[in-house]
Amino acid sequence: MASPEPPANPYLLLTPGPLTTTAGVKAVMMRDWCTWDEDYNRLVQAIRGELTALATAEPGYTTVLIQGSGTFGVEAAVTTAVPDTGKLLVLANGAYGRRIGQIAERSRIPFRVVDSGELCPPDPDETAAVLREDPSITHVAVVHCETTTGMLNPVAAIGRAVKSGGRCFIVDAMSSFGGIPLDAAAIGADYLISSANKCIQGVPGFAFVVARRQELEKTRGRARSLSLDLYDQWATMEAHQGKWRFTSPTHVVRAFFQALQELKAEGGIGARHARYRENHRLLADGMQALGFEPLLPAALRSPIITAFHRPADPAYDFRDFYDRLKTQGFVIYPGKVTERETFRIGTIGDVHPADIRRLLQAVADSMFWR
Ligand SMILES: *Cc1c(COP(=O)(O)O)cnc(C)c1O
Repeated sequence: MASPEPPANPYLLLTPGPLTTTAGVKAVMMRDWCTWDEDYNRLVQAIRGELTALATAEPGYTTVLIQGSGTFGVEAAVTTAVPDTGKLLVLANGAYGRRIGQIAERSRIPFRVVDSGELCPPDPDETAAVLREDPSITHVAVVHCETTTGMLNPVAAIGRAVKSGGRCFIVDAMSSFGGIPLDAAAIGADYLISSANKCIQGVPGFAFVVARRQELEKTRGRARSLSLDLYDQWATMEAHQGKWRFTSPTHVVRAFFQALQELKAEGGIGARHARYRENHRLLADGMQALGFEPLLPAALRSPIITAFHRPADPAYDFRDFYDRLKTQGFVIYPGKVTERETFRIGTIGDVHPADIRRLLQAVADSMFWR
């Protein structure tokens, strides 16, 4: 029997994941894989190797895949890395940074949050000062692209402060990995976390952690949970060459492998970054021309997602605006900033400048409050 054609998408997802994927990525999910078969395990090993190579050219790094959404990866890394005798410093400037603090709190890991506020990046000098003043801190965690606002945090400068203070550095690069050039070794990251459904442009179902092997090797027995034990997951993948401990999302993994090949075909992270930047530039300029004000100054923005202030007109209503855009084939994202009303538009995924131009026309047609 011929396979049915996958149905066309009714709308483009302009969200930070799950995002719009290519027909190629969707198509390879139409077959079943055995989770412990050699063919499948080879695929897993290839993915691990390619992710490590994307993260850095320096030796000494390894990649672990773990079931679940991105948060599962962050939770696995944090609750496996920090020992009971350690203390985590969280540099927060949005919902995802604060979530790392919640993870520590829930697992009773000693921690401290330095919150610079949603409109300010964490300060590397202040980080250095906190580390000098509190020698009990062993680990520092920060988000690279804080998806709450779209802000790109200065991870390289923070990494220098962390490394000159001799601490372990955990980076949530969830929404940026694969879409913005970043070298794990160069920024001093011991753990770099992302997931299948962000800039690699796969579908949701697993997270991955690129870790400095020497650090990960120290973490045996530290994890607070069985299923999120990053060390055990890694040790099993190493010892059995690509075997996951528990049922893995096989279709998602196959789709991710396809997404990695498509990233290469596009020209790698540099080329993808250039496309996302062009998407972002068109979006920011076009929205400003329509009277929308970006939340952040240009210097703090990322090409991943852009937050805009709600229009001042009291007749504006997000839900109505959202529905009108959806009818025209675009799904945007609500705001997440606590103190102001915003909405967000993502520019990652299989989304191209021509799509952004069409979106701007749809936005112009949806401004019912004018
Ligand atoms: C998407 C994202 C996460 C993970 O979110 P999930 O909903 O668990 O996939 C974590 N951090 C950042 C910065 C993100 O953008």
